[in-house]
This record gives sequence, C-alpha cells and structure tokens, in this order.
Amino acid sequence: MPERLTTAQRSANMAKIRSTNTKPEMAVRRMLHGAGFRYRLHDQRLPGKPDLVFPSRKKVVFVHGCFWHRHSCPAGQKVPSTNREFWQKKLSLNHERDTRQLDGLAQLGWIGFVVWECELKDPDEVLRALKRFLNSADGDA
Ligand SMILES: [Zn+2]
Repeated sequence: MPERLTTAQRSANMAKIRSTNTKPEMAVRRMLHGAGFRYRLHDQRLPGKPDLVFPSRKKVVFVHGCFWHRHSCPAGQKVPSTNREFWQKKLSLNHERDTRQLDGLAQLGWIGFVVWECELKDPDEVLRALKRFLNSADGDA
C-alpha cells in the first residue's frame, strides 16, 4: 500500500526535490563540455549560484526547470490543483528571485543566459544558442 501523505506533506516533499545537478543541467554541461567549453559549477560567490560559470568571459548560464522557475511555456504556467495558494506563492517568489539574481549579476558586470528545460527537446538549437551567447562580445544570443 502506498503511504498516504497529507497535501501539506506532499507539497513539502515536492519543494525539497528542487536541487542542483538536475538532469537538464547535466545535459547542458555535457553538451558544452563536448563543444570544448570549460566552466566552473555553482559559484557560491555570485548571485543565484549560477549553474555554469565562465570566468574569463564573465558569463553565466542557468538551467531552469520550467515548473519551478515559471517559464512562459505550458509546463511553466501549471499550478498544482491541490494547495494552490501555497504553490502560487512559492512559484512567484522563485520567479522574483530569479529576476533579482540576474539583476545582481548584471550589476557586477556578469551576463546571464537561461536555458529552459523544455528547450532541451531540441539540443542542437540549445547548443547553437549557447555558442552564440558565449562567443559574442556582449552576450547577445
Ligand atoms: Zn518551458
């Protein structure tokens, strides 16, 4: 028999799942490494602890799950039907924090780029966009 959890417990469990070294992040790391780029991981000194850091280029890459980071795609606009208020609040706080962190990075002279989980359905396109971003002088992707 599966263990029965209250909605609050289940929400707390789901909230804990969000973490570093996620599958989409590993996919991005692998593709960039394969393309010859070298980077640092999760630099604690930078706002938002960016997933990939390219110090000599002063650029960072975040790999964001659509649900957790409120992407504009359908997966990112979903709110679980139980405990809606909890989720709405939590997810919009996540989104605000992301915006703040990108601002904070910009103020320090770093340029940030976000790869969305759903975009990884087309890895070739993601790699092209990342190369454009990393190789451009001003970070225009
Ligand atoms: Zn998405």
